[in-house]
Amino acid sequence: MVAHLPFYDVRNMDPCTSDPSVGTFQAINPLLADLGGFTVRRFLPRRERRMVGPWCFLDAFGPIAFGPQKAMDVPPHPHIGLQTVSWVVEGEILHKDSLGLQALARPGTLNLMTAGGGIAHAEETPPENSGRLHGFQLWVALPDAHRNTEPAFDHHPSLPAVDLPGGRATVFVGELAGARSGTRMFSPIVGAELHGAAGACLHVPLAPDFEHALLPCEGHPELDGHTLTADTLYYLGTGRRELAIRSGPSAFRSLLIGGTPFGEAILMWWNFVARTSDEIREARDDWQAGRRFGEVRAYSGPRLDAPPLVARPVPPNPMS
Ligand code: MN
Repeated sequence: MVAHLPFYDVRNMDPCTSDPSVGTFQAINPLLADLGGFTVRRFLPRRERRMVGPWCFLDAFGPIAFGPQKAMDVPPHPHIGLQTVSWVVEGEILHKDSLGLQALARPGTLNLMTAGGGIAHAEETPPENSGRLHGFQLWVALPDAHRNTEPAFDHHPSLPAVDLPGGRATVFVGELAGARSGTRMFSPIVGAELHGAAGACLHVPLAPDFEHALLPCEGHPELDGHTLTADTLYYLGTGRRELAIRSGPSAFRSLLIGGTPFGEAILMWWNFVARTSDEIREARDDWQAGRRFGEVRAYSGPRLDAPPLVARPVPPNPMS
């Protein structure tokens, strides 16, 4: 005889399930890009997904081990209309900019550069290093009202962490679960590193008006029945109030990025985020002529030349 089971909401049978009514789950594979002998995995922008909130660019690199040579050496180059976020999971990156500032990004610290109307910087492996490198470079598009703001650079030596059921989160940008990073930001946004304990289920409260994406960097977490891998960005759409992420037998680590959908069409070319092709042409001309951006005096070696700007208009970067 079949026993009569009491009536349960099906969600209650597995406490590690996200809200099943929210189904957006888009797996995005990276392009490989060569930054002068240094290979990165580029997850944003991709044809199928240009932005996640104001996040418009996401490169991942490593984990790698290296010898006496510099693992990373990106000579001086300009930026406009964006903020760069350097997040290091392992190793060190030394930032030098045209404001005359220098700062070492290492695990647990944040280098945040606000390009505004124009800044130049270089990023390189410092002479004293651990011989390891694993990290992320992200860009945040500045909204129209702030994109010509004064350039600035902020180094944050420590960032808030918040304990969550099943693990914790370090919030490097914006706010998550009541923890605020206090970093200089211009639109509703979150950037955090999630840690799930081995064998646990990590519960992460989310702002439902944000769109979010996960980029795992360690372990084999599971979300909504999918096993997530470190070579994939998972776009999760808007409307989620919580993520429930199951660890495998080992702990996991993942980036979480999000924000309100950006709502402004942007143009991206080389290291510039703009609105019109004329702005991009002017920024390129200014860099090539040595105007506007200043010099990165602390860097020894030549700066990067801008690639040629083809005669046809820059293709629009559709809002996503
Ligand atoms: Mn840069």
